[in-house]
Amino acid sequence: MTAASPEVLAKPVQFLKGVGPGRAARLGKLGVVTVGDLLYHFPHRYYDRRQMTPLAAIRPDQPVTVQGVVTAIQSGRTAKQKIPILEVTIEDGEGRAVLVWFRQAFREKEFRIGDSVVAAGKASFTRGQVVVAEFEIIGEGREPIHASGLVPSYPATEGISKRLVRALVRAAVEELAGGVPEALPDAIRGRRGLVGVEAALRHMHAPASPAEAEAARRRFAYEEFFLVQAQLARKRQAIVREQAGKRIVVSDALDFRIRSLFPFKLTGAQDRAIAQIRSDLAAGPPMNRLLQGDVGAGKTIVAAYALLAAVGRHGQAALMAPTEILAEQHARTFGRLLGGSRVRMGFLGGGVKGKKREELIRAAAAGEIDLLIGTHAVIEEDVIFKDLALVVIDEQQKFGVLQRAALVRKGPRPHSLVMTATPIPRTLAMTLYGDLDVTVIDELPPGRREVCTLYVPQGGRGEKLAFIRQKLREGRQAYFVYPLVDDSDKVALKSAMKMFEELRGVYKEFAVALLHGRMKQGEKDSIMSEFRAGRAHVLVSTIVIEVGIDVPNASLMVIDHCERYGLSQLHQLRGRIGRGPHESFCILFGDRSERIDTFVSTNDGFKISEADLRLRGPGELRGTRQSGLPEFKCARLLEDAKLLEQAREDAFALVERDPQLSSAPVLRSALEQGGRSGSLLHVG
Ligand code: ADP
Ligand code: MG
Repeated sequence: MTAASPEVLAKPVQFLKGVGPGRAARLGKLGVVTVGDLLYHFPHRYYDRRQMTPLAAIRPDQPVTVQGVVTAIQSGRTAKQKIPILEVTIEDGEGRAVLVWFRQAFREKEFRIGDSVVAAGKASFTRGQVVVAEFEIIGEGREPIHASGLVPSYPATEGISKRLVRALVRAAVEELAGGVPEALPDAIRGRRGLVGVEAALRHMHAPASPAEAEAARRRFAYEEFFLVQAQLARKRQAIVREQAGKRIVVSDALDFRIRSLFPFKLTGAQDRAIAQIRSDLAAGPPMNRLLQGDVGAGKTIVAAYALLAAVGRHGQAALMAPTEILAEQHARTFGRLLGGSRVRMGFLGGGVKGKKREELIRAAAAGEIDLLIGTHAVIEEDVIFKDLALVVIDEQQKFGVLQRAALVRKGPRPHSLVMTATPIPRTLAMTLYGDLDVTVIDELPPGRREVCTLYVPQGGRGEKLAFIRQKLREGRQAYFVYPLVDDSDKVALKSAMKMFEELRGVYKEFAVALLHGRMKQGEKDSIMSEFRAGRAHVLVSTIVIEVGIDVPNASLMVIDHCERYGLSQLHQLRGRIGRGPHESFCILFGDRSERIDTFVSTNDGFKISEADLRLRGPGELRGTRQSGLPEFKCARLLEDAKLLEQAREDAFALVERDPQLSSAPVLRSALEQGGRSGSLLHVG
């Protein structure tokens, strides 16, 4: 065993014996470019070929691993179908078996009488016959790696067989594992019971037992988490160290003034969130906080507090929301809260153009606007602030990392508060937003009742439409949500436009309105205000109402073609109702599935998002790349939650103690290279 230096690990795979340019290119398709990548090319499962079956004990139709000495070799064709067949007879002293290959006559020359062979495959119904899946000839110094033991199965690709990958990896491990630098500090490994990197590599690729393989996987999972967390810890520290944040000290008098603007008493959770924000704003470093709370938990008012605090201390503040309708709603809410105050507010959406926009931009740059509310239009290049002290991003999951950063860059290190209504599993939050402080609003405003969710099969439609009529008569309002705007797409789906016509006929005595994304902004605004004011009773809509919309009197929602939506999307949609004192009903039409059953069974956003993660996997949860969620090879977000917490604790403690990581040079260089040489992990 030679000790490999990090330079060896960084060499192209072509450097290895048996890898020419052609194979190197094909390995590249598997993400294996360097020698180190090969060591970190992990198996996705193992075949258990530990149990040797004596040849005399072979039972028909069973998977077996056998070993023996070749006594006869014969090739020919099968009797009926004339398929080429190779038969190699082996004996082990007590019994005999015939190893069989179909359509592989070329293998004949690989065997000599007297060779010692190990083979794994399936015993056929012909006594003593084994159809071979994998075999190898063993001899002095040649240990079987394919046909016996716990055999790793690797992701393979065209032109590179699993067998070749296995052989290459094994050779690389034998030669180089001893030289792979250890990224995890000894003390941490000791405390967490993690295998060292060399042993872990050996056990990952050639475990003696499943427990050994799992211990190795656990170590690498920890390593993946640890790298991400160490990166986040450093990012955090850089922010804290810069100290350039604008201190916003909220005096008791200001606190009182802000609270007196609020139309209701805050919940305990809202008060706690505000207390945290107040202390963040007063501390030196800029606030960097995530406010997480289920739909309808009342995040807006907490954001309002932060925004008004900033404005009250003579700075500017900005609020960005992902849709025009939501941004417009916020502008309205703030207009109401601030009625009669001296706060100068501006609204900048996609619909604000020309002269109006120019004037707004000029005013923001001149410091003549205190609070700017808008959509992603506020991050456009020419929008400049004189003195931006705080930014709030609502429904931040709808924005990309870059968009969020763009808003923050509009001020000299402004405080930032990002809000998410999609509660995500804690583990995911820790990897996605691990550099943020997290506040959870875990209490709903008083008087809320759980939304009653029903899946209604085909036949039940009429009855449910009648039920809704009854509720409309009682003064409630209803949303009807459809997946398409119109019928232009030739899919057999109901569209909002078509159903608008139909529902106008069904609910003749009520005002039915239509809302979709292709309408002009002014039109959307007036429809929304009709609905908000209770003058429209039924709102037929597309997914444009998904996030943020708040009309407490609307307590009914029909989601048609429910199979078209993801779990989180359904939960967001349902979050539009159950916002007032009325009993709310969410009615689903369409195809039923496990997803729909999960949705019907719970109102709990955290349970929903865990189920979503389980059913779809983290990559699907949102565009992985844009969300900044790293790809893990070994780590599993749900199952390894505990490990993630440990890694986070350890990484933050290490960075706190040793910000330059001088005690952990391997770790430091891995982070600086944006991952570990040899691993696919790229720390974002
Ligand atoms: P979300 O967390 O989904 O953004 P909102 O901020 O839109 O929730 O609040 C949902 C509804 O609850 C709004 O109608 C809001 O006015 C109301 N609300 C928020 N906090 C309280 C409270 N403490 N007491 C009563 N109603 C509240
Ligand atoms: Mg909201």
